[in-house]
Amino acid sequence: MEFQPVFETKKKRPVVIAGPCSAETEEQVLTTAKALAKQNIDLFRAGIWKPRTRPNSFEGVGTPGLAWLRRVKEETGLKVTTEVAKAQHVYETLKYGVDVLWLGARTTVNPFSVQEIADALEGVDIPVLIKNPINPDLKLWIGAIERIYKAGIRKIGVIHRGFSSFQDSKYRNTPRWQLPIELMRQFPDLTMICDNSHICGRRDILLETAQIAMDLNFAGLMTETHPDPDNAWSDAKQQITPATFSQMIDQLVLREPTSSDEDFLEHIEDLRHQIDYLDNELLDLLGKRMEIADKIGLYKKRNNISILQPSRWNEILKIAAEKGQSRGLSAEFIEKVLKAIHQESINHQEAVMNQPERRSARS
Ligand code: PEP
Ligand code: MN
Repeated sequence: MEFQPVFETKKKRPVVIAGPCSAETEEQVLTTAKALAKQNIDLFRAGIWKPRTRPNSFEGVGTPGLAWLRRVKEETGLKVTTEVAKAQHVYETLKYGVDVLWLGARTTVNPFSVQEIADALEGVDIPVLIKNPINPDLKLWIGAIERIYKAGIRKIGVIHRGFSSFQDSKYRNTPRWQLPIELMRQFPDLTMICDNSHICGRRDILLETAQIAMDLNFAGLMTETHPDPDNAWSDAKQQITPATFSQMIDQLVLREPTSSDEDFLEHIEDLRHQIDYLDNELLDLLGKRMEIADKIGLYKKRNNISILQPSRWNEILKIAAEKGQSRGLSAEFIEKVLKAIHQESINHQEAVMNQPERRSARS
């Protein structure tokens, strides 16, 4: 797939998309848009149809809100975007001249819905932003991109809004940065936007989250802004005023993706060599570890002993977490790495145990 840029902007990063979670009233939409227009944002967002977790919540103003977005365009010159979740939404938004469409997390997760939208977009030239699915499934995210691409859309961007999780965390939706990083690796020309509002679910960590996105070379941000956030009809806890939004953008530290300075290049090259060398060592060690796992597998097989001994495994984890800490490695990281190594070790032992032993070369 070859993508075209969603934003034709000559200014430096970040591209910014801002506006309320939901369009509530014409006045609220216009007040927010006028304040944001002064800050030169790239795109004004407002949800018209709102996918809510529980019924009886505010589900959006529907089609009348599209006329408010049209007024935003006329009165501020801003481009506007809203979420579409079915074909009917696509037809309505196109009628009202919405500039960019976005697919929400609850839509990306459902191939039927994405296909319905893709079919409605066939032959239309409009940029589309695709949020990640609510569950951390990269293939599903890529699948949605492919469906929209097959409809002929080339100006496709993606929005990272985090992934829902059963575990309590400081985030409303866990970022799992490795997923957007992998998507950027596979498709370097996809415009990657960070929706820090839905990742955080609260105001106090919006800036630090936006900073992480900038440090990871994201193209831009989508942040929910509201003139009176505490009284917003949806997502009140995470919305900020246009003034706070402006402060957030001003406080971001923007770093260059690379430099042409000779000294810098030489030094970074040297450090990268060191990393490559150590990665090689790690791979050699892992290979050796698996050779021993194979031997253990064979030995256990001959003595009819099961692969897993939970008490030994717990002991290994505990000791490693302690050792890791003294080397500046987090317990969470050590656990992840060791679990992956352990699983590979089990796979090796399984293979050895369930393979018929070759008795002699001739038989
Ligand atoms: C939104 O942007 O307001 C929204 C509903 O987001 P998400 O699809 O990420 O939950
Ligand atoms: Mn929202």
